[in-house]
Amino acid sequence: MIYSIALDGPGGAGKSSIAKQVAKQKGIVYVDTGAMYRAIALYMLKNNIDIHDQPAVVRALSGVEISLEYRDGTQCVILNGEDVSTAIRENPVSMAASVTSAYKEVRAFLMDTQRNVAKTTSVIMDGRDIGTVVLPDAQVKIFLSADPVVRAKRRHKELLEKGQTVDFETVLSDIQQRDWQDINRTEAPLRQADDAVLLDTSDLDFEQSVKAVLDLIEEKVGE
Ligand code: C5P
Repeated sequence: MIYSIALDGPGGAGKSSIAKQVAKQKGIVYVDTGAMYRAIALYMLKNNIDIHDQPAVVRALSGVEISLEYRDGTQCVILNGEDVSTAIRENPVSMAASVTSAYKEVRAFLMDTQRNVAKTTSVIMDGRDIGTVVLPDAQVKIFLSADPVVRAKRRHKELLEKGQTVDFETVLSDIQQRDWQDINRTEAPLRQADDAVLLDTSDLDFEQSVKAVLDLIEEKVGE
């Protein structure tokens, strides 16, 4: 049976690492929708488009082609033929993605690609609006959350491990700003779907979080 798992929540709650592990264990496809929004933001930054100028961003979308490829089970984001999987993780791209993702044309641009993957295969899709907008009929909906300070600590550690030098206070304020922007936008704001299960990972380690998600899948899908 084909089924979909919608995993939403704010940045740094652990969505992508948990989703990757769950996908591996269940043998299903992981779709990181944030990476697609990041690729659009990267394109705008690279081409010197003012990200606050909505009409300019919308015009520039005609030059954007994004696809997802899976290499050894890992999702790679291809922007106009180039693998940008690493470049999209830079902090300025995170901040820009939160600005351009608020534009309805940007969201519409990515919607079909996101829905189409889920039509043919079982997926765990992470994002902000998967349970509310993209896959409202998903069999399993989870809203993953954690205290902002805990999320900032995790993100900070992740960035340091990648060799990026950034101080904790900046990471925390960036997370708070992104939360604010994602929650308060008009188009597909970040919110828990009415039928989603809330999973707070503040006091859970990685293994415990993965287990909690696997248990929920078993309960809802019976697999
Ligand atoms: O999840 P990630 O941090 O990679 O997402 C980057 C940005 O993309 C988020 O801050 C959010 O503004 C946007 N996004 C979104 N809808 C999604 C996934 C991400 O608006 N489904």
